[in-house]
Amino acid sequence: MANGARRGEQVLQRLRERPPAIWYRGELIKDVTTHPALRGGVQTLAKLYDLQWQNPAVSLYDSPSSGRKVARSFMMPKTRDELVSISKAMKVWEDYTHGMMGRVPDYINRAMTGYAAGAPFLAEADPRFGDNAVRYYEYLRENDLCLTHTLIPPQANRAVNSAKQADPFLAARVKEETDAGIVIRGCRMLATLPISDEIMVFPSTLLKNPEDDAPYAFGFSIPNDTEGLRFICRESVDYGRSHFDHPLGSRFEEMDAVVIFDDVFVPWEKVVLYRDIKRCNDAYARTGAVVHMTHQVVVKNIAKCEFMLGLAHLMVNAIGAEVFQHIHEKLAEIWVNLETMKAFLRAAEADAELDEWGVMRPAWNPLDAARNLFPRLYPRMVEIIQQIGASGLVAMPTEADLKGPLVEDIRKYYQAARAEAFDRIPLFRLAWDASISAFAGRQVLYERFFFGDPVRMAGALVTGHSSQIQQYADQVRAFVKEARDEAFQ
Ligand SMILES: Cc1cc2nc3c(=O)[nH]c(=O)nc-3n(C[C@H](O)[C@H](O)[C@H](O)COP(=O)(O)OP(=O)(O)OC[C@H]3O[C@@H](n4cnc5c(N)ncnc54)[C@H](O)[C@@H]3O)c2cc1C
Repeated sequence: MANGARRGEQVLQRLRERPPAIWYRGELIKDVTTHPALRGGVQTLAKLYDLQWQNPAVSLYDSPSSGRKVARSFMMPKTRDELVSISKAMKVWEDYTHGMMGRVPDYINRAMTGYAAGAPFLAEADPRFGDNAVRYYEYLRENDLCLTHTLIPPQANRAVNSAKQADPFLAARVKEETDAGIVIRGCRMLATLPISDEIMVFPSTLLKNPEDDAPYAFGFSIPNDTEGLRFICRESVDYGRSHFDHPLGSRFEEMDAVVIFDDVFVPWEKVVLYRDIKRCNDAYARTGAVVHMTHQVVVKNIAKCEFMLGLAHLMVNAIGAEVFQHIHEKLAEIWVNLETMKAFLRAAEADAELDEWGVMRPAWNPLDAARNLFPRLYPRMVEIIQQIGASGLVAMPTEADLKGPLVEDIRKYYQAARAEAFDRIPLFRLAWDASISAFAGRQVLYERFFFGDPVRMAGALVTGHSSQIQQYADQVRAFVKEARDEAFQ
């Protein structure tokens, strides 16, 4: 029975009772809540749900249908104040994870809220699809379920579309259609947070050819434990060590997995898009889902910049590096990144307008700018941590060393100008985990790609904002013409 906003224990209980088929290093995981590769991330996920009850006035709101307290990230805002209240709620989770868990459930909550708001657009193709989107959204909101999502086909041959791969069933496609639903066979490249409850399987890469692409054009969401659905994990970046040794990886491993559909049956009640190439391509933008998701992403970016700035400052202060001018330049660079992200968020909220579905939609331009900029800013901030930390990032003993016979050596030789060894070591272990560990490498890759290939996103940006760009081209053309006319009149 739906109870509204969940607490951590309910999250763990559902994962125990309805385990998805998650495979790790050749084995099916029986219980993700205890498995060493995943339990750290699972514990954090559960803590986030407890956290929303610690700040109910900020994190929750009253469900419009049941009156229960539900997560604010499911709200369809009607005013700017409501919109701002959503980003404030999202910031609670981002502060807790320091932006290092890109897939806190808010991300897809905002997407599904957008899809439900834009249900009339989905209903134009088939009235059932609009109803399905709204019913499913309400089900998620009232049960406070959390989703992963998977969009892109496997990386086999990027020179041709899914239909032209060596095997047309490499990419997940419709195998069969019945009165009851569709059967999906094939694979999707990636889903971050397979330790969630359900999966949103939507189109992403622009489908181009109506005949070829139709079997690959669909949108639906199903439980992660659906029969025939399998997740194959990458190697964990949680080494199974203490928070002292591995402060980020031991807490924030959200995991990425390839998703296999082994003749997965999807009932029609779960389908919101089907075989309509144009509608699939337009759905994210028309419903507003992409805007609401990006709103969440910018909140995450702010938390990440704040974290990197605080970390860099503490490192500089510990080793007395503030006497060097280039260090100030580096701190300033991170500060500018932070203020840039805050300005984008503020502009998006200040210029928000009611959209065609009656939802207060953040302004797209600042969000689009942010999502195109951050993939370049984040790797640079990681580089700055490396440049500040230098060998301090590797001359770094573990918790076991500090408890071992060489502790007096460690106390003496690992001290810093303004930190005793026992303070400096955990700080620099954190810097290591943010800049050179496997966790850090995966974070950089995530920020480069999770919203899409930056090259193609830039292409979409130029096309999407072409009339605005044209306006400035016209101004420059007039300026050039003036000079030409002056010279040759
Ligand atoms: C850590 C991480 C987590 C992710 N989580 C998710 C998730 O939860 N759900 C999900 O759906 N996706 C997820 N993604 C996938 C993400 O959407 C893709 O990485 C992104 O869309 C790029 O696609 P790709 O990785 O297949 O790269 P590819 O498309 O294979 O690109 C490889 C290279 O070829 C170039 N290239 C390929 N095609 C073109 C083209 N047409 N024009 C120009 N250049 C081209 C690219 O620029 C790139 O350099 C995640 C990715 C990462 C790295």
